[in-house]
Amino acid sequence: MPFSNLGLCDPIVQAITELGYSAPTPVQKQAIPLILAGKDLIATAQTGTGKTAAFVLPLLENINKERKLRGKRIRALILTPTRELAVQVAANVAQYSKHLNLSSMAVYGGVELEPQKQRLIDGVDILVATPGRLIDLAHQRALHFDELEVLVLDEADRMVDMGFVGDINKIIARLPASRQNLLFSATMNHAVHTIADNFSDSKMSNPASEISISPKSTTAATISQWLITVDKDTKSALLSHLINTEQWDQALIFIEKKHGAAKLVDQLAKRGIKADAIHGDKSQAMREKILADFKSGKLKYLVSTGVSARGIDIGDLSRVVNYDLPFKPEEYIHRIGRTGRAGTAGEAISFVAMGDFKNLCAIESRLNHIIDRKEIEGFPVRKVVPISILNYVRKSQR
Ligand code: AMP
Repeated sequence: MPFSNLGLCDPIVQAITELGYSAPTPVQKQAIPLILAGKDLIATAQTGTGKTAAFVLPLLENINKERKLRGKRIRALILTPTRELAVQVAANVAQYSKHLNLSSMAVYGGVELEPQKQRLIDGVDILVATPGRLIDLAHQRALHFDELEVLVLDEADRMVDMGFVGDINKIIARLPASRQNLLFSATMNHAVHTIADNFSDSKMSNPASEISISPKSTTAATISQWLITVDKDTKSALLSHLINTEQWDQALIFIEKKHGAAKLVDQLAKRGIKADAIHGDKSQAMREKILADFKSGKLKYLVSTGVSARGIDIGDLSRVVNYDLPFKPEEYIHRIGRTGRAGTAGEAISFVAMGDFKNLCAIESRLNHIIDRKEIEGFPVRKVVPISILNYVRKSQR
């Protein structure tokens, strides 16, 4: 089915055609008609499924282009958990609205407030924001929500994980009651549902439609996943070995702690591998520069903590590496969702040390399958990681 059959206007279809999108992805097929019909929506869809276009395209179609926007007003608000995701979503909005006469911008913390205030003076049709900075701007009366038509919560599960529920509720309390609400989340749980229950006053007369694109917490089939068991002290040597012998063109490498990220960059440099790291301690300008270099291919290996990596969208990222295995299965799924996007092939490699055994059990239980193991010549392990029990439940969840 071509995009034109979904009821999007020509300027939008033209913009996505220019981007090389030939047909809607499953989430787009399901969400676009519902959003165009003005429905509230709760969608479970992983990053990489095309979820951003699934809400941005109909939103561009729906917002009232006839009414003149007053100063400091916005028509659509997209809330994201991180700065990087805000930048990414705003870039998508700009691409998709290229042939429409609509303005858009991102506001997020870590950069000066004043230029953002200045740009809001004339009003902005579509505002992408992180919660903290948005609240600051609202407190300073730099923007008003009385003309808002649509609210989107993107990566709602992540916002819950990052402790933004209070901020989100504060923002929702300021919005006009009559509006369209759209919530997108990679995973669905009670906390996410509670936000969705809160966000619509009109939910009794106009209940939100719910769609789920991938079954709860699964990973895209195009991602080949495997793991290597390793002793903690040989991890950096193993990573350098793989980069060199397998001639990796690109890798996004996840690490637990920010000081570990800087150390790993040094260890790789000692073996002649040029990598860089993004984490919360780096300035926003630095992070954006490093990300741009990684996206353009100038930088081949990027080391990142889990939080910093949110929102990184690289169309054809071929490989992610869990240098440290994440604690939560949802985090594993988010991370590996960085590769194999929109149907392209990708590879997710995890380094697993004995201390990660419980996390591995939790991840494989959630995936409901054992991840293939590979042995690398020259890297025998001293502490063997046993094969997981697939019905593993953490003590705290029993
Ligand atoms: P998202 O899930 O929004 O992070 O999107 C993942 C990637 O898929 C992005 O690089 C988009 O540009 C791309 N994408 C979104 N929709 C389509 C489509 N219909 N056809 C091809 N690529 C798409």
